[in-house]
Amino acid sequence: MERTFAIIKPDAVAAKNAGKIIDMIEAAGFNIVGMHKINMSQEQANELYKEHSARSFFGEMVAAMMASPIIILALEKENAVLAWRDLMGATNPKDAAAGTVRALYGANIGANAAHGSDSLASAARELAIFFPAL
Ligand code: ATP
Ligand code: MG
Repeated sequence: MERTFAIIKPDAVAAKNAGKIIDMIEAAGFNIVGMHKINMSQEQANELYKEHSARSFFGEMVAAMMASPIIILALEKENAVLAWRDLMGATNPKDAAAGTVRALYGANIGANAAHGSDSLASAARELAIFFPAL
């Protein structure tokens, strides 16, 4: 059993699509090991997006992630990291496969409905930031 870290991003929470996305997560066979609705802190945002700190959209992205509530999830399943990436779809909703979270609920590359760890190492790092008790 593998664990990954997921966020239902501010755009999807504000649009009241969180329930539908959680439905997709459960229908895909994930166990929800942890789930909270939170406001992301500056420290959490800086840590989560550390690798993107030099990119042009960093400030905008961090501001958007902190602007309104998000839902953080610790998800468990065999091959959870890849399985959640597959269920989310491509980063840009325009490129996301039909039926994926980002194709269904993403508006654009910034407001793309969800986040998912991109490797087992990222999952461990990100889960430690948001679910220290796990
Ligand atoms: P995530 O890490 O959120 O699951 P990802 O791994 O598919 O997404 P990354 O390259 O890690 O994509 O980018 C992190 C986030 O930064 C994306 O989810 C997206 O919202 C935002 N982003 C990426 N590229 C751009 C861009 N060119 N302009 C604005 N925002 C962007
Ligand atoms: Mg990423």
